[in-house]
Amino acid sequence: MVIYLKKVNILGVGVNMSGISESADIIMRFLEDNDFHSVYTPNSEIIMNAYRDADFCALLNRANLLTADGIGVVYASRILKRPISERAAGYDIACEVLRRLADAPHRLFLFGGKPGVAEKARENLERDYPHIQIAGTRNGYFSCEQVPDIINEINKSGADLLFVCLGAPMQEKWIDANKDKLNVCVAMGIGGSLDVFAGEVRRAPDAWRRLGLEWLYRLIKEPWRFMRMMALPKFALTVLAHGRKFPQEDL
Ligand code: UDP
Repeated sequence: MVIYLKKVNILGVGVNMSGISESADIIMRFLEDNDFHSVYTPNSEIIMNAYRDADFCALLNRANLLTADGIGVVYASRILKRPISERAAGYDIACEVLRRLADAPHRLFLFGGKPGVAEKARENLERDYPHIQIAGTRNGYFSCEQVPDIINEINKSGADLLFVCLGAPMQEKWIDANKDKLNVCVAMGIGGSLDVFAGEVRRAPDAWRRLGLEWLYRLIKEPWRFMRMMALPKFALTVLAHGRKFPQEDL
């Protein structure tokens, strides 16, 4: 299914301008289609990786939906005069999709996280969204030799929606490499979301999120992220210096 979506070209990555609710609508439409669809939610760090790595940039641009996960990406879209209205983080889109599954009988597979996390996430999700059908779970620690078995397990479960939570860029690469073997309609790369569903990690309180400070909250809780977060100022400077060189037409 081809859905024409408005995009903003951020350093070569065509990020869709859809917010949380519109992104969930699009995913529900993907689920009605028999083809495979990939959904990634790039933040500043991922876009900086793509800026430096043409293959990864092409991989991201092959996605069926790319949403802006991170306030840095939203600000970049404003600098480029194609403003995205809101941050559409993978976790928020996933919650919105889970709500909508009340009206649509789809089967979900949870893939990723440390052993036990996906099972705990399953318990919590079945409590919070009693209408959903979880077809299976698999932790995210595996060798290359185990990949065919994992794909087999996902396909045998009959799932049509797959949450892949391996962290970036591993999850995007995994989805792209295996898209022709997976029978699901939608594979979403949504980072640490299973840790949040499992109650292992807390998201920033609403007020922090509204102020665009979730990154600061995570930095306080997980200071070892400091080096990764240095991508944010580098990203901002790169967009200011070079962002306008990327054409906004033909996206
Ligand atoms: N993870 C995994 N397999 C790996 C490496 C990481 O399943 O080989 C999981 C890890 O347990 C965590 C998630 O991937 O649940 C990454 O979370 P993080 O918040 O770092 O992701 P981000 O959204 O920041 O990319």
